[in-house]
Amino acid sequence: MNTTTDYFNIESYLTEEQILIKQSTRSWVNKYIKPHIESYYQNGTVPENWSNELASIGAYGLIIPMEYGGTEADYIAYGLMMQELERGDTTVRVMSSIQTSLVMYAIWKYGNDLQKEKYLPKLATGEYTSAFGLTEPNHGSNPAAMHSYFKPDKNDKDHIILNGSKLWIGNASHADIAIVWAKNDMGKIQGIIIETANTDNFTNAKIDAKWSFRTSNTGELIFSDSKIKKEQILAKSTSLPDAYECLNIGRYAVAWGSIGIAIDCYECALKYAVQREQFGNPIARYQLIQKKLAEMITEITKAQLLCHQLGKLMDKGEANYKQISMAKRNNVDMAHKIAKDARQILGGMGITSDYPVMRHILNLETLITYQGTHEMHLLITGKDITGISAFH
Ligand SMILES: Cc1cc2nc3c(=O)[nH]c(=O)nc-3n(C[C@H](O)[C@H](O)[C@H](O)COP(=O)(O)OP(=O)(O)OC[C@H]3O[C@@H](n4cnc5c(N)ncnc54)[C@H](O)[C@@H]3O)c2cc1C
Repeated sequence: MNTTTDYFNIESYLTEEQILIKQSTRSWVNKYIKPHIESYYQNGTVPENWSNELASIGAYGLIIPMEYGGTEADYIAYGLMMQELERGDTTVRVMSSIQTSLVMYAIWKYGNDLQKEKYLPKLATGEYTSAFGLTEPNHGSNPAAMHSYFKPDKNDKDHIILNGSKLWIGNASHADIAIVWAKNDMGKIQGIIIETANTDNFTNAKIDAKWSFRTSNTGELIFSDSKIKKEQILAKSTSLPDAYECLNIGRYAVAWGSIGIAIDCYECALKYAVQREQFGNPIARYQLIQKKLAEMITEITKAQLLCHQLGKLMDKGEANYKQISMAKRNNVDMAHKIAKDARQILGGMGITSDYPVMRHILNLETLITYQGTHEMHLLITGKDITGISAFH
């Protein structure tokens, strides 16, 4: 029996640091997440200690320079960490990813020195929890049409007035800071660092009734004539593509994380198939079961190779958003199919929380939609290869 999930020995091409980050994250997940996640998920609990624990393993700011509290690791190491976190649960990877890919990256890339020094070290240690607000109730796939806007405060030149609301925002209900994207008086979209505790006329709300991402807080950020210091505008952000650049890092994390889900489901299904007997044989003896398992490991292997090449391009600064888009969509789709086949192999047991598969399937329903829907990513590829946009 060959139980490897590294069928093409990709690990032989990894650096010592990449292997260390992968293995230490895996050990952490096995110790802190795996034994407890099913009951947390059933109860919809987000454990308070997760954030500090994640900070302690460097999961906040792995790709951010050390001078700001990051680890300055490469993108393949980052991907491997996302893969291992998501083997535990999507929402654990999401906590790391919001803070690193979306918020710390935004401040590092578009902030000035003061903003970087003020926020990045506190985000790296987990002293601050953060959120990224782009989506609005009426503007999801098309954020360019967003309504949120800010204008100079007529009575106070050092302040702006922000209006609008952001929906489906991870960590919305308890974030210390949020990067909120809104239009300025010229109609250009810029990011603003919101200190939630110091912002007037600001409210947040939590979405409790959800079947997916049950161990993640999702909610709304609402601004009604909120007075905010002008110096909170991300100094170097000038347009919507700046927000997309942060999302690219987030989508890269999803592409790797999906491999973690697929591996967890595959390992579970393989083990079950060789142990479970029906008609006097392990079900792994039957060709229909072997077909599913063989296709699973093949698809996992293809997704790993895709991500490793993408990681190399990221490290050289040569990856483009179309490649990231393809990897995100492909790998989420791959994990979704594998998770559903794994559930099928487990029969009735597949729907119970004795096994991780159903929980992964529920999380995948969000992964298909968030960070750009499956359809929008297909249309990005379609636009690239035909030269014709189907959505503008
Ligand atoms: C649990 C969760 C967490 C999230 N976290 C965050 C977060 O932290 N920050 C944040 O900013 N956002 C977040 N989101 C929002 C997410 O990015 C959006 O849900 C997503 O972009 C889709 O927007 P929508 O839900 O408004 O769907 P819509 O844009 O209304 O799309 C509905 C359907 O129509 C399809 N569609 C739309 N336009 C086209 C077209 N031109 N052609 C073909 N099909 C089309 C879509 O693919 C989809 O199937 C989160 C979402 C969820 C569910």
